[in-house]
Amino acid sequence: MDLKSLIRDIPDFPKPGIMFRDITTLLNDAEGLRYTIDTLAEKCRDKGLNPDYIVGMESRGFLFGVPLAYQLGAGFIPVRKPGKLPAAVHSIEYDLEYGTDTLEIHQDAVAAHHKVLIVDDLIATGGTAKATAELLQKIGCEVLGFAFIIELTFLEGRKKLPDLPIITLVEY
Ligand code: IMP
Repeated sequence: MDLKSLIRDIPDFPKPGIMFRDITTLLNDAEGLRYTIDTLAEKCRDKGLNPDYIVGMESRGFLFGVPLAYQLGAGFIPVRKPGKLPAAVHSIEYDLEYGTDTLEIHQDAVAAHHKVLIVDDLIATGGTAKATAELLQKIGCEVLGFAFIIELTFLEGRKKLPDLPIITLVEY
């Protein structure tokens, strides 16, 4: 299936000069959505990735992470921006182009030695995925790998990630 034809390109969003890859049009397409989740699950099985939990990043990581977890028979854990999770959290601060950002995860959602797979809609610079992996590794989890629908290859985000399997479906 041609997934690119289901991903909408929005120029100059959220800032001038940025080409935003919009996955809402992919989610909107019943066949495209089914194919996306089935293919992610198949690639995980092919690579022998058998996570206890999928960890999905706010907010588009939730949209793909939950159905993938269901398919793989895993649980789902959200990673969110500061102040969104109601119970006690572990957090990690990471660098952005200008300034820093923070990600949080519920302390009681993860324990050392849990096997986790990190899922987001898109990898750009890799900063978000790298910080999530560091947060999980600090807790003592075993990060099995990463899965993204879209990879912006020209930003070389995968070079920032630890040497683990990376699943992607569409490249720009
Ligand atoms: P990174 O940390 O630079 O790899 O950026 C990845 C994060 O930014 C992910 O959580 C994406 O959801 C979001 N993101 C960046 N660019 C796009 C885009 O073009 N479409 C959708 N999400 C994007």
